[in-house]
Amino acid sequence: MSSLRGRVVKRLLQARQLTRSVAADEATPPPFDAPNQLGERLLKIRKDAGSGVSQERFAKLMDDHLAGEPALDQPMISRYERGEREPKPEYLEAYAKVAGIELSELTKLRSSADCLHVASRPLRFPLVPSIALLLLAALLVIWFLTQQQAGAHQLEAIYEVGSTKPLRLVRGDHVLWQYEADRPSIMHVPPLMTDLDGDGSKEIVASFDPLTPEDAPGRIVALSSTKDLRWAESFGGVAAMGTRVFGNHYFTHWLKRFKTESSDFIVAVLAHQPHFPSLVLIIDPTSGQLIGDYLHPGRIEALYLTDLNLNGRDELLLGGINNPGQGPGRPSLAIFELPFVQATEPDAIFGRLQLRETQYFLFPRNDLFDLSMSVPAVKGIRRGGVGQYSFDINDPEGRAISWTLDRWLRPLGVYPSDTFSMAHNEKLDHLLGQEEIDSWLPIDRFERAPNANWNLGGQDR
Ligand SMILES: [Zn+2]
Repeated sequence: MSSLRGRVVKRLLQARQLTRSVAADEATPPPFDAPNQLGERLLKIRKDAGSGVSQERFAKLMDDHLAGEPALDQPMISRYERGEREPKPEYLEAYAKVAGIELSELTKLRSSADCLHVASRPLRFPLVPSIALLLLAALLVIWFLTQQQAGAHQLEAIYEVGSTKPLRLVRGDHVLWQYEADRPSIMHVPPLMTDLDGDGSKEIVASFDPLTPEDAPGRIVALSSTKDLRWAESFGGVAAMGTRVFGNHYFTHWLKRFKTESSDFIVAVLAHQPHFPSLVLIIDPTSGQLIGDYLHPGRIEALYLTDLNLNGRDELLLGGINNPGQGPGRPSLAIFELPFVQATEPDAIFGRLQLRETQYFLFPRNDLFDLSMSVPAVKGIRRGGVGQYSFDINDPEGRAISWTLDRWLRPLGVYPSDTFSMAHNEKLDHLLGQEEIDSWLPIDRFERAPNANWNLGGQDR
């Protein structure tokens, strides 16, 4: 209680002193008389209490003077004192009563005290806020140092791209262990550090690619932080397209865990050496069991999980390029509804049983891509506006076109980048206009992945 009163006393004194100094400077009478009365009266209370008196004692003395004031709780008083809250009108009324002045006079006094205080106060750092600020700064520094310290002590899985060095688990500068696959291997993607079984501690999932075709197949390995082997999955397998045969020499292109309320799986995308085809593995994070695999006729460049059709279950979207055999291929999008379904009939291109797409789309090529024989792929999938998705198609020269589709994958708009338009206008004999852009809008829908090179002078099946 004393804090609020202390504040009021202080304010009143300030008002009086300021009023006096203004009066002295300008030789005009003080604007208010009542404030001085109130100030003196409250000062007297304080004086009577004595300088060495405790806060409680002062509060008690004040209580004797203030009749009928509503009780104030300590947190509220603290807030008043810090200036975060203004006293309630009934408290002011009580003070006015004690001071024997009208409430309106007291209000005037308070505002004039504030105004004068602000107007004539030289720039200085108030003691209490300054200490608070210093304390805050000190706390921030301590917090920062602690974070640094914690960061230095966090577990980290270390690997080097394209290196045959073993995988290392480190904490700060301390190497806890290192792990080497049982045959010569290279790592191409960062290991996942993820809690596979929900026990609160993270496991390490790493993909070891075979160093040479003789070292195939590669392995995806899950290790606990104490280096216990949780599971290991060999990947690869021989595939064929027409007369072409693909051995099991694959390297990892993507390693990603998708975990939502309704889905939990690891996707590994492996590219065949050199670049065709892609093998998609869907793995159960807990057991390491292969849920299913899928051989795609071209690179996979974008992975996206979303409940596209609002059926309450996620769909997995795989963007890339469909480019089997001879020919430049077409940007592609494969959709998988979850849970994943095994096809009952072999796929059209590789003739093998594999996970079944729900839908498959091919985006069109255009005159610039054809002229430069570029191999454009879906490189990015983003959520656009409400119920809209953007599919960014880039060729290796970075010439991009973006399609916007609704959640039923109906095209809404197509937008070439400036780089694309400039290259188009420079290399072709006509300027890119809206009519030409609009002609690219339709995309082709299939039940399963076709061979996108079939009508481009490429190899048919
Ligand atoms: Zn054109």
